Amino acid sequence: MVLKEIFIKGFKSFADPVRIEISDRVTVVVGPNGSGKSNVVDAIRWVLGEQSMKEIRAQEREDVVFWGNEKRPPAQYAYVELVFEDNGNKVSIARELSRDGVSKYLLNGDEVRLKDLRELLMSHGFGKNPYSIIGQGQIDKIVSSTPESLRSIIEEIAGIGIYREKKKEALAKLDATQINLSRITDVLFEVD
Ligand code: ATP
Repeated sequence: MVLKEIFIKGFKSFADPVRIEISDRVTVVVGPNGSGKSNVVDAIRWVLGEQSMKEIRAQEREDVVFWGNEKRPPAQYAYVELVFEDNGNKVSIARELSRDGVSKYLLNGDEVRLKDLRELLMSHGFGKNPYSIIGQGQIDKIVSSTPESLRSIIEEIAGIGIYREKKKEALAKLDATQINLSRITDVLFEVD
């Protein structure tokens, strides 16, 4: 999947709707200090399902909704949409959060669960820690990571991290089934 467009409305400093087209080569965002350059990266992390407030430099969930200033009233909701191209098809992923805390994830305009979105993203190499976004200081961390964590980074980028997650889920289900089975065996034994 290749990112083609970012649409931001009511998210952090973006009171007005902004559409950023991503070039096939390099896209550079320039602006004075505090003008909102890093907020663009926060918006991308947020729409990809980021749950950590620290990662998107917020204190609380609703902090990402434009809080208003002397010229503008606060926004009612924050909305960020990423448009990708995947083998010639357009894929749109969006997240919306209203000021009163109602949250939604949308895939091509239809509401989906975060879990479904995560699975789709993971199968395209966007893991739980999307290494498609390299933040400040992260290169140092990757270079000095242990072979085990390096391996999991490479697995995530290659899009096979999802199978590790699915294996974990399947093993947990298998454990629960084993417990149920031994309970049933006990009951049967008592009945006999
Ligand atoms: P620098 O070059 O200094 O790193 P920057 O261009 O990356 O700056 P950001 O850090 O993206 O700027 O933006 C910070 C600005 O975003 C601050 O002025 C802050 O007040 C504003 N901001 C953050 N959250 C909100 C919000 N919910 N509503 C309105 N403004 C917000």
